[in-house]
Amino acid sequence: TERLLSVDGLRVSFRTRDGDNQAVRGVSFHIDAGETVGIVGESGSGKSVTAKAIMSLIQPPGEIIAGSIEFRGERLNDLPEKTWRKLRGNRISMVFQDPMTSLNPVKRIGDQMTEVIRRHRGLKADEALAEAIRLLREVGIADPERRVRQYPHEFSGGMRQRVMIAMALSCSPELLIADEPTTALDVTIQAQILELFKQLKANPDTAVALITHDLGVVAQVCTRVIVMYGGMIMEEGTVEDIFYRAQHPYTLGLLRSVPKRAGGGRERLIAIEGTPPDLLDPPPGCPFMERCPHAMAKCAELPPMFHIGPGHRSLCWLAEDDHPPEKSASGDVR
Ligand code: SF4
Ligand code: MG
Repeated sequence: TERLLSVDGLRVSFRTRDGDNQAVRGVSFHIDAGETVGIVGESGSGKSVTAKAIMSLIQPPGEIIAGSIEFRGERLNDLPEKTWRKLRGNRISMVFQDPMTSLNPVKRIGDQMTEVIRRHRGLKADEALAEAIRLLREVGIADPERRVRQYPHEFSGGMRQRVMIAMALSCSPELLIADEPTTALDVTIQAQILELFKQLKANPDTAVALITHDLGVVAQVCTRVIVMYGGMIMEEGTVEDIFYRAQHPYTLGLLRSVPKRAGGGRERLIAIEGTPPDLLDPPPGCPFMERCPHAMAKCAELPPMFHIGPGHRSLCWLAEDDHPPEKSASGDVR
């Protein structure tokens, strides 16, 4: 497999009146070409900020203060915005939680789609329209010839999200980053969107980073999982590692909090007891210490990543007796 994205030692802070909010505190991971990776955590874990950093969408008072982001071996941080405009929405695209904020309410769906398609692929107007219709059909929107003439408000929430995904896919990106793409949708529509992601999982040309708080979603569409908490990666592994061999107490807590599929209504993640660390003044040790049922004196010191198995690692002292610490790319034990 080919390395598509490498994130190494990423740190992102937001300057506030009360100090620096250290939203991402030393995050390292990779995504290979074509794979589907779930990035999981509660809100405030740093997963969305990590995604925005990859897309170069961190705005002041936010700032990438350390680390590197490489795409196919090319360093993305500090690329001029002009170069970024060619990458973004072209080789790397992103789908956000709320499609209404990304669609123009006073423009027909077809016009918005053809604009993107023409800009990135240089097609003529009629070719771009045919492509828009094809893409809408591909994401499961019935009667696309009529739909392209409609406005966003004539679409349901799920259809708008599918339009956004169709637009994001219109340039066959090598990497699609989807931030909570199903969270604002009801359960039936969620299932339709997940069906789309399952198709993407089978597509070797497009890798997906799927950001979600829902492990059920991850189980259905991802091959690998990155679990984040307090701005750090707590555990990483294959879907099987995480669902059957989870090591980290935070991962185990998340697994226990997966809602039962019985009954109707919105599924909600039942939270783990306690509150996440204050990232204005994060604890020097394990970020999960305050909520961890296994916390011990040693946990006041930040553990290194322990190597549990191939591709499986855990940032927790409990792994110390049976597993070696991992070396980072720079060779340091972290
Ligand atoms: Fe719990 Fe300590 Fe492991 Fe942190 S390092 S998760 S506090 S046992
Ligand atoms: Mg988020």
